[in-house]
Amino acid sequence: MRYKDHSVIVTGAARGIGAAIARSYAAEGARVILADLLVEQGERTADDIRSGGGQARFIACDVSREEQVVALIARTVEHYGAVDILINNAGIADPHQASFYDLTGDQWDRVMNTNAKGCFLTSREAAKIMRLNEQGGAIVHISSTRALMSEPHTEAYAASKGAIASLTHAMAVSLGPDGITVNCIYPGWIETGDYRELREIDHAQHPAGRVGKPEDIARACLYLTDSVNRFITGAGLVVDGGMTVKMIYEP
Ligand code: NDP
Repeated sequence: MRYKDHSVIVTGAARGIGAAIARSYAAEGARVILADLLVEQGERTADDIRSGGGQARFIACDVSREEQVVALIARTVEHYGAVDILINNAGIADPHQASFYDLTGDQWDRVMNTNAKGCFLTSREAAKIMRLNEQGGAIVHISSTRALMSEPHTEAYAASKGAIASLTHAMAVSLGPDGITVNCIYPGWIETGDYRELREIDHAQHPAGRVGKPEDIARACLYLTDSVNRFITGAGLVVDGGMTVKMIYEP
């Protein structure tokens, strides 16, 4: 019950990695707000957490829309009285791969507005409340190892995740005096579908011997927001089973 009575917002929490993060904080006693575009699935995940004895509420929110983010933070304060932790997990990779020559300005804007601007808006509004806390606050952005390395034709997603990494060090410096830590996680391949369907080669190519699970990212969040780890700020934690440090020159 490390996070008993902490008020935690997780964006993109209806499913996938965000849902696992929300469950993990709830299991540690936190009061969790799940924010997402997906209303039915978000309500279901929140219900599920409550039926397991956790405290959770779903709030519909598009993180790229300023007025919805302002409302999200206001409603969180209304429900839980504070904001202690924010996990910026909502993100899109659509189009996952589009020829660099065909990528449109609108596609670029959509990815940047969700992934990068979304992190900025939620952080700005949450930090206004966190700075009123005696014990400060903690923000974690979910970037991607694609901020550090690329497959061809993934420019919009890579740039948006790189922006999140830079936002991390800028915010850590700005918000340090207000007692707010800001860190970022670079996940590698985290399987959010049926893990049993993965092939042996999928696991074996990882130095850690397996593909990642949403809980791997949830544990990293719990570590980075733990009050005993407040000396860690402006950091980027790669959670990828060793893939980004593996040399892949053809023999
Ligand atoms: P999912 O697509 O499974 O879940 C993301 C959730 O965020 C969805 O429910 C999605 O709703 C929601 N969302 C999308 N846009 C918005 C928005 N504007 N406002 C609010 N919610 C929104 O993704 P994952 O769980 O796989 O990934 C979570 C995060 O981790 C993302 O930021 C992703 O980029 C990052 N990541 C994931 C990796 C992986 O291997 N899974 C690897 C590296 C990074 P909807 O379905 O309607 O879009």
